[in-house]
Amino acid sequence: MMKPLHTARHLFRTAALTAVALLGGSGACRAQIPAVQGVLNAVSLDSMVRTVRQLSGEAPVFIGGVQDTIRSRAYTEPGNEKAFQYLKARMVAYGLQLDSVEVGARKSLIATLPGARADFWILGGHYDGVGLPGQAFSTADDNASGCGAIVEAARLLSSLPQPLPLTVRFAFWDEEEQGFIGSTDFIPFLNPFLHRGYINVDMLGYDGNNDAACDLFTAPVERSQALANTAQSVVSLYNLGLSPQRIDPGPYNTDYAPFWNSGRTAIGLAEDMNGDRNPAYHTAADSLSRFNLPYYRKMGQWAIATLLHALLSDPLSVDAASPGAAPTAVFSGRALLLELPAAGALRVRWVDALGRVVVTTSGQYRAGSATVPAPEALVPGVYTAWLEWSAPGAPPAVQAVRAAVLR
Ligand SMILES: [Zn+2]
Repeated sequence: MMKPLHTARHLFRTAALTAVALLGGSGACRAQIPAVQGVLNAVSLDSMVRTVRQLSGEAPVFIGGVQDTIRSRAYTEPGNEKAFQYLKARMVAYGLQLDSVEVGARKSLIATLPGARADFWILGGHYDGVGLPGQAFSTADDNASGCGAIVEAARLLSSLPQPLPLTVRFAFWDEEEQGFIGSTDFIPFLNPFLHRGYINVDMLGYDGNNDAACDLFTAPVERSQALANTAQSVVSLYNLGLSPQRIDPGPYNTDYAPFWNSGRTAIGLAEDMNGDRNPAYHTAADSLSRFNLPYYRKMGQWAIATLLHALLSDPLSVDAASPGAAPTAVFSGRALLLELPAAGALRVRWVDALGRVVVTTSGQYRAGSATVPAPEALVPGVYTAWLEWSAPGAPPAVQAVRAAVLR
């Protein structure tokens, strides 16, 4: 019984490797993907900072409708569980499917955005922090900063036309500070045949000398080096203004390590941990006030660009093979941000949760970037924006974009 099974697995992996080889080594796409640029334009520093403030005790959170404050996310503290519940509520708000891996009091959260295929990419980082019993530790950089980028990725990817070609998981690990225990708990549940790659974010907010340096950790494990190539190439493809230093093999000191230890593709993105380390690292002074905010936004964009570019250029994303045939659109919270492949007419019907058309807008647009603000008549809430785009000589393209309208 064992041998045929082994042969089948071997054939599957050989076929997958051949597909990657035919697409040019890593399979990475060397050109900009308009949908990725659209999402990067919509990355909101306000939105990322709001998450950091709430996770680090600077702003209140609402858990089950009750106002509360997260004073410390250390595993010994009540704020650890509150942070889990807070992140869970954020993921529910974006319509994601939730799973958790729970071992005793240790809880890691996995939120899934189902794609057209079950094969998945994961963006994750730890939500716990260092601390001392009974004391307030904001641990803003380590690692509310990473959580802020993951929540922003979930907000933006869930607002793209669904389904994406492949599935995306957003992971928030517990007890990284105790030896990446939460991510280790997850490994037995990781289906190696569907796993495409893991991108870890841990400490994204500090750049004391303003040199835009950052770290890219990889290792000679499965396709980790090809994924690092993608992470490196998106920096110039999308003009992110960062200077990544590649460290191969990276230190086995955070949540990518359990993936490497089990032979799975993973990389880590972080601020410059050697030349310009946050002096407040692992102290009670690790607060938002020390962030370099423009740098933090770029680091969030880097994580999101790596995830989305890797996904859309994945050889399994067959539907992404012909980008440019229709507009790409993402909703920023206040406007639709579009990339139009040609000049044409665009009509947008804003439909509320009960299926009623609330407002219809239309206009003529040139090729390239365009912005369609959410009409003033829309009260805050979740809408579907139905886009009908037509250009001379091309069939009309219709797509639905999920739009959570903020004010
Ligand atoms: Zn950390």
